Amino acid sequence: MTTDIAIIGAGPAGIFTAIELIRLGCRKKIVLVEQGRPMAERRCPKEQTKKCVGCKPFCHITSGFSGAGAFSDGKLSLSCEVGGDLPDLIGADRAQELIDYTDTIYLDFGADEHVEGRGNDEEIKEIRRRAIQAGLKLVDCPIRHLGTERAQELYGNIQQYLAASGVELLFGTRCQDLIIENGVCLGAVLADVQTGKTTELRAGETVVAAGRGGAEWLENQCAIHDIHHKPGTVDIGVRVECRTEIMERVNEVLYESKLIGYPKPFKNKVRTFCQNPGGFVSQENYDNGLSVVNGHSYKSLKSENTNVAILCSHNFSEPFNQPIAYAQRVGELTNMLGAGHILVQRFGDILDGKRTWAKELAASNVRPTLPDAVAGDITFAMPYRTMTNIINFMKAMDFVVPGFAGEETLLYSPELKFYSNKVRMTPDLRTSVQGLFCLGDASGWTRGLMMASSMGVLMARGLASES
Ligand SMILES: Cc1cc2nc3c(=O)[nH]c(=O)nc-3n(C[C@H](O)[C@H](O)[C@H](O)COP(=O)(O)OP(=O)(O)OC[C@H]3O[C@@H](n4cnc5c(N)ncnc54)[C@H](O)[C@@H]3O)c2cc1C
Repeated sequence: MTTDIAIIGAGPAGIFTAIELIRLGCRKKIVLVEQGRPMAERRCPKEQTKKCVGCKPFCHITSGFSGAGAFSDGKLSLSCEVGGDLPDLIGADRAQELIDYTDTIYLDFGADEHVEGRGNDEEIKEIRRRAIQAGLKLVDCPIRHLGTERAQELYGNIQQYLAASGVELLFGTRCQDLIIENGVCLGAVLADVQTGKTTELRAGETVVAAGRGGAEWLENQCAIHDIHHKPGTVDIGVRVECRTEIMERVNEVLYESKLIGYPKPFKNKVRTFCQNPGGFVSQENYDNGLSVVNGHSYKSLKSENTNVAILCSHNFSEPFNQPIAYAQRVGELTNMLGAGHILVQRFGDILDGKRTWAKELAASNVRPTLPDAVAGDITFAMPYRTMTNIINFMKAMDFVVPGFAGEETLLYSPELKFYSNKVRMTPDLRTSVQGLFCLGDASGWTRGLMMASSMGVLMARGLASES
């Protein structure tokens, strides 16, 4: 098989590359390779089983058309301060211009016109004042919320548009290897997920957009083919859940409160991430068997709780420089303690140095929205440094949101964000290998829907200008 442009991974980064190429009138042949299924066939068995069955060879929540975006909460962060490090690569103004433009594409495909977190200036001022007093920084970030159900509809529209525009969509096809000879990428070796049968796809330009799930695979490819990269950051934390009554004010005023702090004594960066008013805590399974916690919310179906992640950023240099492996070990240990399930513990029990029991959870005001989470003791697996950061950050948050660090507040673990090693690249996304480009979460430069999508748009502009 031959093509002009091969895109590996049909997540937001890959599909926005294809969309923008079409919008720019590019006539090159585009093949989009995706290991998962088309939008309409994506199903998480948990809908029936009510329990995660650990799908193999990949998780249907994170794989398939639109990648991890399909079942995500669909919160589009409209500020370049959130969602990754693209501004460091191309400059903040350019990154913001790309986000504003990409947002119009989302609107064209049916995103809600409403933007959360704009207006309410006086209330925001008051929240900011309390944040400053608590030693935290409040980041302004308007959010366009698709909602999980609307996100699936929107990405379904995009899939139809790409197919109708002549993009060849290869589902159930895994990129096994990149074909790199003498420092030039010539395409990829593809394998049928069902049969394992391999074929070569020869391409003028190969774009790897394999997402967070493909990070380990890309890391191997970097090692095999000498694609220049550097160790990234890893975020280790917890998913916090409390009654919505506690979070009501910040939910209404900001929708998503993006707070950053550097609590003593370690002064590592700690931040809130992905807040879901009336949302649900969810489990996500990686292909390597790791189960991690996440959260999402629907536009219409609401729980009694609000959940938000608290993440601590960790970097390593030497002699150890493998942040992904480090976080994986933390996750594996936590999974082991939970017998393969997500662990949940009440904040008060952590401070008291005791585990949480299922009967205590059942008697609490806060009922877990992830029913198969197991009550236990997350401190057996959480590194001391990370746990201390989380406790001190939560105490500071309690000043901004009274009751947040309450006895019954639930902490689910492991919440891990792997950002892949950062692939070294130029502002036009060229890697050290000619003809090979990397983008989205797999490249280590993004960590959110909007920034991954925007990086796709940037990629397309570069590829189109070469025609
Ligand atoms: C549950 C959940 C909720 C989230 N909620 C939000 C949110 O509300 N807001 C937000 O901004 N971000 C959210 N995110 C993060 C967001 O989904 C990602 O940042 C975004 O999807 C990254 O886009 P991407 O295209 O880089 O990668 P992905 O979306 O991960 O897509 C990569 C695709 O590549 C495919 N792939 C991987 N390896 C191969 C291979 N070797 N061969 C072929 N195909 C391959 C995968 O199957 C996948 O479909 C959420 C993530 C999850 C998991």
